[in-house]
This record gives sequence, structure tokens and C-alpha cells, in this order.
Amino acid sequence: MDFSKKKNGSGVARNRSNMERITLLDMYEDSRDILPDFCDIEYFYDAAYKRLQILQCIEELSSRISRKDNEYQDKLLASLTSKSLRHWVDITVEVEKAQKRADDRRETKRMDLISHFTLRLAYCQSEELRRWFLQWETELFRFRLERESTEMVQAFQEDWNLTFDAVSDDEKLRVMASVAAARPQTSVAVIASSCLHKVHFSMVPDMVAKRRVYVNKGMAYLLPEDTRSIVVAEFRSYLSRVLTKLSTCSSIYLKDDQVAPLMKLLARRQIQAERTFREEGSVSPADLDQLSKDAFPLCMSMMHDNLRGKHHLKHTGRLAYTLFLKGIGLSMDDSLKFFGQEFAKSIGPDKFNKEYAYAIRHSYGKEGKRADYRPYNCMKIVNLHNPSGVECHGCPYKVLDPDALKVRLRSYNVTAGVINDVMSDVKNSNYQAACTKVFECRSRVVLNTTIVHPNQYYEESVKVLQGTSQLQSQDNKIEKTVVKTYKKVKKEPENQEAHEEIEQEARHVDD
Ligand code: SF4
Repeated sequence: MDFSKKKNGSGVARNRSNMERITLLDMYEDSRDILPDFCDIEYFYDAAYKRLQILQCIEELSSRISRKDNEYQDKLLASLTSKSLRHWVDITVEVEKAQKRADDRRETKRMDLISHFTLRLAYCQSEELRRWFLQWETELFRFRLERESTEMVQAFQEDWNLTFDAVSDDEKLRVMASVAAARPQTSVAVIASSCLHKVHFSMVPDMVAKRRVYVNKGMAYLLPEDTRSIVVAEFRSYLSRVLTKLSTCSSIYLKDDQVAPLMKLLARRQIQAERTFREEGSVSPADLDQLSKDAFPLCMSMMHDNLRGKHHLKHTGRLAYTLFLKGIGLSMDDSLKFFGQEFAKSIGPDKFNKEYAYAIRHSYGKEGKRADYRPYNCMKIVNLHNPSGVECHGCPYKVLDPDALKVRLRSYNVTAGVINDVMSDVKNSNYQAACTKVFECRSRVVLNTTIVHPNQYYEESVKVLQGTSQLQSQDNKIEKTVVKTYKKVKKEPENQEAHEEIEQEARHVDD
């Protein structure tokens, strides 16, 4: 692979679409072509909202089945078709064949560009949002790349200087046996019929580390599917860089009175599905033991047990657990009482009041910068550092060793079959899918979504306990409110009340 040819040192070059073919494969390097339309903000919102739905579809499916699963592509296509979004992943179209189709395709391409750059701006605003957007944009890119024809991928790679040295027929004959030996999972027939490429071994460190590739004289021999992984890695790395860069100067764009609230609302679309928080005082310390058994996800009941058993919880776990309890409606006074009583048994009440009470008041926004801190979502919990020593925090599906996890699940009466499925999810790092399966097994209710937040798990459990587990279409409700309010502001720019409504909605993403 010739890096010296990379434009701007970024490893990417500008995409092109011509009159004959329009592809949705794009590195999204340049937004200048679409900037003149920035005034039509409703169009921008519509495009961005559609893209969000696609990214959420991919996230939802990925938490249930591995993308390497044979059914993955079909299921994703079915899901997108049901939302009338399938054309967003139908790749190249020969546009000369039908003018109407060509116009539709150009419109899709336009929306694709606009939606990407709009969401890029909306999702550069915090580390958590950047991580989410980067992950699912990359998966969308990968999905399109896998569905695109070899010819178009080749053209795309050439456009972006992502080309690889092809192995000659003679050399291929010489290395065939070694290539096949290095990858027993691929049949010799497949290797024989594939075009081989070679790159410097440093380009594929994962494959080298896992001994999944034949390396000779510093060159790794790759099949087309491997070169596609490098292209995906390039896309990811480029997008990661531009998101970070954009986050440092996004305030310039976000000064606009119309753009700023819209960006916050779009960012909230991702967060909203995760969050349901209760009124203060909905639960009391006396309820917690029973709720921990019946309604808490494993991460929270593990911390609850640790606190009750050892009368202590180290900082990271304490913060996560305090915020979770705040989200289920434990008031600050009750939280101080609950933690205070437990800590008093190990360190005494004075030390608790001196060293620990402040942090609890801080979590409730009563100290320091008085921010309204929100409970951690699964992504945040999964990405916490692994607990060491007496620490107790993190997602148990990730941090517990398999035997300890099985014991814990058996104590929850999770059936052997489900435990097997859970362990296979855990092996594939699908922690939220594992958690969803445990919820479904314990509650005997099938969720039409994936657990993405401990407080969502709690809410669903409470619905089951109260016999009201019919899920509402919360998304649609929010969507209608957002669009209605937004349109009101657009029609009546002087309407202060509508501005305040939007601000109130948007404030939720500020933490
Ligand atoms: S998936 Fe989320 S809710 Fe479930 S145990 Fe892990 S962090 Fe907790």
C-alpha cells in the first residue's frame, strides 16, 4: 500500500460520483458542496433524523447478533426496509438507465452527505457522543463496503489512494499453501479463486498478533475481505480525527440561534432512548434490598450487595451507584442516610460526614458546579477501568470471570440454556445483549429493544412487577414533540415560550 500517495497526509482523498454511477461509499472529507443549503434547516433535521434511525438500527441489531453471523445482513436490510430506509444502503445505481431513479439516487446521495455532516456536528460535542457516532458510522460504512461490488470498491480505493499491491499469478502459486495454512477457516478453493494482495505486516497488527495471516519477508498476504478491513480502519481513523478536531471549534457553528438547539436535540435522540428517570422520593432506603433482587440489573445489584456486605464502596462504584439511585428516585437525604448508615459500620459516621457526604451531595447537584449529573449508561459503565482490589464496579458481563458470572446468574434462576447464550454473547463482547437476555429470562417478557441503560432495565422491571410491561413508543412521542416545537420556533421566531421549550429539551444533553 502506497502511503506516499495519500492526499493531505490523511490517508483519504475526495470521493467522486459521476453521471454513470452514484455510490454511497464516501469518506466525507468535504462539506463545501452542501454548505449553501445550510439555511434549509428542516431539510437538515429530516436527513439527520433518518440517518440516526439507521445508526440506531445497526446498534440494536449488533447488540443481538454478531455482524459475522450469516443472518446479519438480511436482518439489517429487513429492519431498514420496515422503516423505509433501505435505499440508504443500496449502493451503486446505474443512473442512466432510468431518469426517475437517477433523481431519487442523487437525492439520497445529497441526504447522505447532509445527514453525515449534520450529525458530525451534533455528535462532536462530548466524548460519549463522539464514541457512539464513530462506532455506528463505521459500521454503516463497513456494511455499505461489504455490499458494494468489487469493481466499485476498487474504484473507491483508487480514488482515495487506498490501493494494495496485487500478488502475481506465479507468486500466488508459490505462497498458496502457506496462505491456506495460516487461515484454516478459509477453504483452499476460496483462496485459489481470490485475488491476493500483500501489504507491510505493520498494516495488519491484529491479524499478525492472532497468527491469522501468512507473513513473508515483512509482507502479509491478504484476501479481498482483509483489505476491506484496512479501508474500514482508515475510515474510522479519519472520522475519529475530524470529530476531535471539530469538537475544538464547534462553538463557531453552534453560535447560530437556530443551529445550536437543533444540534442538541439531535444529540438527544441517541440519549433519550436510554433515559427514564423518576421523581425524587419514588423509592426509600427500606425498598432497596427487595428492589435490588427484583428490579436492578446485575451491575447495580452487585454494587448494592457489596455495599451491604462490606459496608463500603470505592469511589467509581459509589458514584455510579449513587447516580443510579438518584435516577430511580432516591432523594438526596435518603441517599445520605442509606450510604451513611452503611459506611458508619465500617469507618464511623464522622469520617463518612467529613469525607464522603460531599460527593453524594455533589452528585445531586447541591455542591460544586451544581450540575444535574445523570446516571451512567451501559456504554459508560462498560468502559470504566476494570475494578481491582476491593473495588466493585463495571458491567459484570465484562468484569466477572465466567465461573463467577455463571454462579451469579444461577442465583437469579437464569436457566442453563440462557446462561449458555449469555456466555456466548459475553465472549463476543455483546454485554448489553447478554443483559437483555437475562432480563427477558427473569421477567418472562420479550423486550422489543436492547438494554442500553441500567435505569432503563429498572424501568422495564418495574413495569413487569406492576403488570404494565406493554412498551410505549416513546421515540415517536419525542419525535413529534421535537418537530412540533421546532416548527413553532421557525414560524414564530419571537415566540419566547417555544424557545424555552427547546432549550429545556436541549439542556438534558449538557451533562
Ligand atoms: S449491560 Fe448495562 S445494565 Fe446490564 S449489567 Fe451491564 S452495565 Fe448494567
